[in-house]
Amino acid sequence: MPELPEVEFCRRALDRWTRGRRVVALEVPDARVVRDSRTDRPSHGSPAAVERLADIVASPSLGLARHGKRLLWTFERGALLLHLGMTGRWTRGASAFPKVVLGLEGGDRLTFHDPRLLGGIVPFRDPAEGTRALLDGLGPDALAAPLPRLVGKRAVKLALMDQAVVAGLGNVQAMEALWRAGLHPLRAAGSLTGAEHARLDTAVREQLEATLAMLGEGDEITYVEEPGAPNPFPLYQREGEPCPRCAAPIATFRQAGRGTWYCPRCQPGAPG
Ligand SMILES: [Zn+2]
Repeated sequence: MPELPEVEFCRRALDRWTRGRRVVALEVPDARVVRDSRTDRPSHGSPAAVERLADIVASPSLGLARHGKRLLWTFERGALLLHLGMTGRWTRGASAFPKVVLGLEGGDRLTFHDPRLLGGIVPFRDPAEGTRALLDGLGPDALAAPLPRLVGKRAVKLALMDQAVVAGLGNVQAMEALWRAGLHPLRAAGSLTGAEHARLDTAVREQLEATLAMLGEGDEITYVEEPGAPNPFPLYQREGEPCPRCAAPIATFRQAGRGTWYCPRCQPGAPG
């Protein structure tokens, strides 16, 4: 599922495709993704929201901002909160599951594609309301801001994935950043020394930058957890393979229902 780098990829693509070009047509093949508030419930699709969407996208675009895994697309007559959920993506190509299609001046068609309907679009007349929805409930952005000091007894990996603590990291980015920092995923969040925190702070941004560089500037994206997707990550789903740093076999365990991969030699210090 999309994490910060994939959402930033989407922001850059939409910005590139739409800079200086007006939206001249709107089709809504599935109005369930156009909602009055930020929710992942398809039943909350709203005809009034579709009307607002049509009016807003007919005005000139002023650009896109990102915070964590959310995007805010601002227009002269309002703003759209975009979230991708688990399977949402914006594409310039054809889509098997089109939910919303924007026709651009010059003929391109931008499609919001989302087979699982957990992503969505929330149109706001008042851009300030859109900004509040962009930031609501989220900690500082994991790419733009220093990592806040982590506290408490819960595992450091789960603290990193808590969007209220730091916005943008999911399962894959959190586990890969911990490997870069040489920290065991089960270490208590509040037990990190000042030096370990500094190492993790650097590792998080290096990890996000590395994924962004790997995603590049193309038009299309496949999420690593989808069937048949390429896996460019050093640890993810590589149990038994040699650690790229020390060659010890990579190990795995379940943590809060999600797979965690780590290097027992580079990431010592499992509690108990
Ligand atoms: Zn290692």
